[in-house]
Amino acid sequence: MIRIKKPSDIPAKLLNEGVAENNKNCVDYDKPGSTLDSTGFDIGNKIYGHSSVKKILKNSQHNKCCFCEKDQVDEFGAVEHFRPKKGYKINKKDKLIRPGYYWLAFDWDNLFFVCSGCNSTKYKGNRFPIVDEKLRAKNHHADYKSEESLLLHPSGDHDKNPERHITFEGPLPKELTKFGKATIEICGLDRDALNNKRKKLLEDIDARIAIIGFHSVHSAKEISKAKKYIRDCQNDEAEFSSAARAYLKTFNFVTN
Ligand SMILES: [Zn+2]
Repeated sequence: MIRIKKPSDIPAKLLNEGVAENNKNCVDYDKPGSTLDSTGFDIGNKIYGHSSVKKILKNSQHNKCCFCEKDQVDEFGAVEHFRPKKGYKINKKDKLIRPGYYWLAFDWDNLFFVCSGCNSTKYKGNRFPIVDEKLRAKNHHADYKSEESLLLHPSGDHDKNPERHITFEGPLPKELTKFGKATIEICGLDRDALNNKRKKLLEDIDARIAIIGFHSVHSAKEISKAKKYIRDCQNDEAEFSSAARAYLKTFNFVTN
């Protein structure tokens, strides 16, 4: 998981239709006799999931899932709400607590692009535990910014750069803090499918290190290609770049 830098310009779809829809939802919530506090809102994906919003998110996330960094070039993925819009759970087996963070359904800071695995009910789904439950924002009148999420915010809220909270031992994610631990567990960042893909990446890195190390038996072109691979795999654009960076850090490996 790496820190995502989204453009500060809010997509027009959210600014226009999203703001209007949100204002209507908040007015409906406050109407005398409203049952929305217990039923929650049925918010469709036409606005927050619009192709124009999704495209900006995908581009700013380098076509990768905001949690696991799996490449999504050939996958559909989804626009995910960091704070769940229809209701939240603290633990996986809990019942959904409504109404959820309905007032953040179209909030730019709350939206990310996510893979189908991390977004599934088996993993993140509607889970959203916080440090102090007493500070939980229950509706749009509360200040949700007083909450401290246990799940790491992909843009690094509360100055939490994800890489300071999760590192890797080989292909396996390893928590450095309670926030890292919660995020690994909630999103299933240690699931076999991801561990195996990261294992293959580290093998590919090892192969390049061997080429560079045994430079006398390889051509200058092969060595240059290997060095480029080592540089590129650590860039934010690369799949599982945080795992590559953590791995290569252990070698103190410098390419030029
Ligand atoms: Zn994912």
